[in-house]
Formats: sequence, C-alpha cells, structure tokens
Amino acid sequence: MNHINTLLTQLSARIPSHLLLTDEKSKEFYGRDWIKDFKPAPCVIALPETIEQVQHILQTCENLVFGVVPSGGRTGLSGGATATNGEVVVSLERMRAILEVNSTDRTIRCQAGVPLERIQLEAQTHNLYFPVDFSTRGSAQIGGNISTNAGGIRVIRYGNMREWVLGLKVVTAGGELLELNGSLFKNNSGYDLRSLFIGSEGTLGIIVEATLRLTTPPKGMTRVMCGLESTEAILPLLSFCRGKLRDLSAFEFIDQASFHEVITHRKLRDPFSARYNAYVLIECELNTKDAQEDILATFGEAYEKSLILDVVVSESQAQAQELMNIRDLISETLSTHYTIHKNDISVPVTTIPSFIKQLQDSITEAYSQFRVVIFGHVGDGNLHVNVLKPDSMSDDQFWKSCHEADHTIFKTVQQFKGSISAEHGVGLLKRDFIRYTRTELELEIMRGIKRAFDPKGIMNPGKVIPG
Ligand SMILES: Cc1cc2nc3c(=O)[nH]c(=O)nc-3n(C[C@H](O)[C@H](O)[C@H](O)COP(=O)(O)OP(=O)(O)OC[C@H]3O[C@@H](n4cnc5c(N)ncnc54)[C@H](O)[C@@H]3O)c2cc1C
Repeated sequence: MNHINTLLTQLSARIPSHLLLTDEKSKEFYGRDWIKDFKPAPCVIALPETIEQVQHILQTCENLVFGVVPSGGRTGLSGGATATNGEVVVSLERMRAILEVNSTDRTIRCQAGVPLERIQLEAQTHNLYFPVDFSTRGSAQIGGNISTNAGGIRVIRYGNMREWVLGLKVVTAGGELLELNGSLFKNNSGYDLRSLFIGSEGTLGIIVEATLRLTTPPKGMTRVMCGLESTEAILPLLSFCRGKLRDLSAFEFIDQASFHEVITHRKLRDPFSARYNAYVLIECELNTKDAQEDILATFGEAYEKSLILDVVVSESQAQAQELMNIRDLISETLSTHYTIHKNDISVPVTTIPSFIKQLQDSITEAYSQFRVVIFGHVGDGNLHVNVLKPDSMSDDQFWKSCHEADHTIFKTVQQFKGSISAEHGVGLLKRDFIRYTRTELELEIMRGIKRAFDPKGIMNPGKVIPG
C-alpha cells in the first residue's frame, strides 16, 4: 500500500489529481478491453494530456518498477489493454487533437487518442481519404490501431495500418521521447525503429503522436452481396472478381449461421428470398464512368457461369450501407446474444475452403455440442472463428472446453502454415499459443528487442511474449 502511496505522490508532482483515478468504477472501466475473460485490477488510471505528462508517468513507473498498460479505445479483442495485476493504466483519451493536415504531402499528424473515424472524416474535409476501416471506428484510437497493426475490410486494396504510418512519436519505458521517421516517405538510414512499434501491442512504449499517409478518395463505391452454393465456391469467385474488377476493395465471407443470426437479431432486411450455404460481401470502387454497368455485367456473367447462386448489387449509398451493416454487425450481435469464444486466424488464401472444412470436422468430432460460426476478411486469408456456448453447458465447462479446443484450432492453423492471430493481436488471450506459429528463435529475438526499449519489463507486462 505504501508503495502505491509513493507512486501516487510522485505522479501527483506533475499530474493534476483529477487526471489520476483510483475509484473502483474507473478501475473496472479502464482495466479491460472488449474481452471479458479477465478480471480488471489496476492500481491507478492516469489520463495524461501532454507528452511531458506521459514521460513523467513512465519515468516514475520505471523507477518504482510498476507495470504500465497503455490504453486506447479498449475495443481490442485479445486482452492487450487489460490490467489484471496492479498496473498503472495510461489512457490516451485526453490526447485527441488533430495537429496538422498537409494536402501537398497528403499527410495528417495527430495525437494518439484520436478515434479512427475522426481521421477518416478530417481527411474527407480536405478531399482526401484514409482507407483503413472497421466497425469500431467510432471508439478505437489511432494509437491502438497502430499498436495492433489493425486490418479491417479494405486490406486487399490498401493493406494494414502499417502501410499508412509515416512517422511516430513514442515514449519509451524510461520516459525518453523518440521521434521516428517524421513525415518521410523514404528513409533508408539504418533499422526502421518505427516499424517495431507497429503491432507491438504496448509492450515497447507508448505512442503519443502519429503522422499518417492519406490518399485520393474513390469517386464512388458500390457493394454486392452474393449467395453461394458452399465455401468451396469462394475461391473461384475471388479469382473471377480479381480478373474482372480492377477496383475491388473488400471481399468478405459470411457463413450461413452468421448471416441469419445478424438478420434475425438486428431485424435487418434479408436481401435474398432464399437461404444460401455461404455469402460473400464485395465492395468495389467506382472510379470510371461505366464502372457500375461493368459491375452489373460482371456479376451477370458470374451468375451465368454458376459461380454464384444469387446476387444483389447496391444502387444507392443507403442500400450499400444496408449490405455493409450485415457484415459490420455480426461480431457485436454474436457477443450480445451468446457466450462466445473468439479466434482470429489467418491462412494462405488458396487454402481457405479446405482449412474451413478440416477445422469444422475436427471440432465437431471432438466437441459435438459446439456450434462454430465463421466469417471474416477472406480476400486476405483472415477468418474469425467463433464458438458459441450451448445452452446445456455451464460457463465453467464451456471456457475449459474452449481452451482445449483452441489447441485443436491452432494445430490446424499450424498445419496450414497460418497465424494464430491475423489482426487482433496476441495480448494476454493468445500469448500461450504463440508457439504454434512463431519459433523459439523468433521469440528470443523479440525478448531482446523488448529488453532494448524496456530493460525493467514494465511495459504491458505478461502480454504477447511468453516467459
Ligand atoms: C466489433 C469489433 C470489430 C472489430 N473489427 C476489427 C477489424 O475488422 N480489424 C481489426 O484489425 N480489428 C478489429 N477489431 C479489434 C479492435 O477494434 C482493433 O484491434 C483496434 O485497433 C484496437 O484499438 P483500440 O484503440 O481500441 O485499442 P485498445 O484495445 O485500447 O488497445 C489495443 C492494444 O494496443 C495497446 N495500445 C493502445 N493504445 C496505445 C498507445 N497509444 N501506445 C502504445 N500501445 C497502445 C494496448 O495496450 C493494447 O495492447 C474489432 C473489435 C470489435 C469489438
């Protein structure tokens, strides 16, 4: 207790008391991300407003050897922003200024706590475009997006967050400020330290500022929902679309169960009058005069070639949004209506149908009571594999069985040369499974990198790298 009093006294020297929260409600609120598997138990929540305050917090925590959990919008799905062991949570929510937009360089500089959606909207007002997008855009923060190297629906056209980060300001565990790469597009002078922070899940330091690239906005956009015979039909359709549609920007898979759960629970309009075994939501940019007609002709041809069983092409922004809602709302709907165990894996794109089949067979064989629901960014090989708790099973039994089933899932991922985490990160939830797809040598190199930035191991302790 005295130790915590010392911490609070030293923090208070530079941080006003209203920015240091110790009440139980705040600890519960800021001590976890979207994952409810872990009990939050931080010792204090710090809400810095300046880079100097972040530096002071980290210097103090390093001196007193207190663990630090960087916290963004807490929409993470791997327990990365969870504080379970008396850590200091550093929330960036008060550092949410957009600092500069440079229309010539096509860059935007902002503090780490700015929500993703504000970057998208700010870019729009300058007739520019920030293409990284996913459904938590309103609350997930740029610092969190960079720290998880977030993906989303447009990775097949625009890549992950990594492609859009030009420069970073980060505070290391000792409180030093590093300015990495400024706003340079080219910089081949030695190791790219900026890259190490992208996807590091708060284990190396705290990102306080970022300079991001912007690009030309698409002239328009349409969305297409296709009903398919089976998951085997995904790949021929993807190849066909890639050959015909130059401006394909998303290719998302929705299995029958996810589709009908979201339609039913959200009372959405089913675009089809029949049920299909698999669905694909496609997004295309409309950059040429005849693009919409070309898209209609492409899907007419896909239907004639029996690549699809049914299709709806949006004819207005409102209809495009309706189709997107079906995909956007799946995760939230499943989490609201079921006790659910999530996995976010990737495999090489061409193996997707055989991977799904083998995974479903092996889980059904070992855990016949489980219902497995799959959807995801199939165009880049990323699937969200969800296990729903059967009503007849107790919570304890469910979580225990899921933990066992994870080994079955990850063995299959390993066999297909995939990754145990595609975009949600490793955090606390997947840490003990990382060896399925990363080698001991890789982990040892990661430990060395962590020691270089964080010799006392205070940054997000226990996350990502197993001991
Ligand atoms: C319904 C739903 C849908 C989602 N869809 C997608 C999707 O399509 N694609 C995708 O990639 N993700 C998706 N996610 C996951 C999540 O939204 C992303 O991982 C997002 O990037 C997390 O941002 P955040 O600000 O909420 O980070 P948090 O959850 O707060 O933190 C995530 C990690 O980053 C660290 N961190 C946060 N801020 C900083 C900082 N300033 N400096 C250093 N470390 C920091 C934390 O310690 C933690 O390890 C989804 C989540 C939900 C709930």
